[in-house]
Amino acid sequence: MTLEKMLQCQGFGSRKFCRSLVLEHRVEIGGIICTDPGLLIETDNLSFCIDGEQWECRKKLYLVLNKPAGYECSHQPQHHPSVFSLFPPPFIHRGLQCVGRLDQDTTGMLLLSDDGNFIHRYTSPRKKVPKIYQITTADPFRQDQLERLENGVELRNEKTITKALKCRLIDEYHVKLVIAEGKYHQVKRMIAAVGNRVEKLHRSAIGGLSLPASLPAGHWCFLNENDLKKLN
Ligand code: URA
Repeated sequence: MTLEKMLQCQGFGSRKFCRSLVLEHRVEIGGIICTDPGLLIETDNLSFCIDGEQWECRKKLYLVLNKPAGYECSHQPQHHPSVFSLFPPPFIHRGLQCVGRLDQDTTGMLLLSDDGNFIHRYTSPRKKVPKIYQITTADPFRQDQLERLENGVELRNEKTITKALKCRLIDEYHVKLVIAEGKYHQVKRMIAAVGNRVEKLHRSAIGGLSLPASLPAGHWCFLNENDLKKLN
C-alpha cells in the first residue's frame, strides 16, 4: 500500500490531505522523515509519527472504554458530551461506533469498533452475550425481588418475559445482575418492575471479558486477540 493510502485508511483525512502531510515533511517512519506520498509500505506492525505523535497502523479498531457518567453514546448527543469526544479524531473518521449503548448516567464497560461485522455480531439479539451490571438501588433490595428477576418480569412493550440470567445480592443496596439481552433501558426497567429503582448502574463485564481494573473512568485501551476471544 502507498504511504498516502495508508494514512487515508487510518483516518487522517482525504487522499489529498494525506499527500500534503507527507509533502510537508510531517510524517516519520522509524525516525526517518518521509517525503514520497507514493512510497510502498508494509502495513503489518507499522508504527509511524505525525507531527511527532506516534500511531500504530491497525486494520480494524477494537476498543474498550471505561465510560464515565454524563456522556451519551451517540455521534449527535442531545444533552451531554459524546463518548466519541474521548477518542482521537482519526478513529472517528474511520467510522468508530459503539457496540450497543449505555445510558448517559451509566458507567463502565463500553466496546467500540469500526468493524461492521463485529458490531453486528455483538449487538444482534440472537447472540446472547451475558453482560454483568453492578447496581446500587434506591431502596433496600429484598430476596423476593431477586427471585422475581430470576423468574422473569413483564416489561411494557416487550412481547416476551424478561429474565435475569443470574442475580446476586451483594448487600442491602447492591445487586449484581447478569442479563443476556440488550432491551431498551433493560436493567432500570427490570428493577422498576420489581418495585425498586436504580440509583447507580455500572457495567463490569461482557462475556468473559471484564473491564480492566487499571483503566480509569474516561480512558480507553485497545483489545487484543485474547480479549476478543474472551468476549464469546
Ligand atoms: N440497562 C439500562 O437500563 N441502562 C443501561 O445503560 C444499560 C442497561
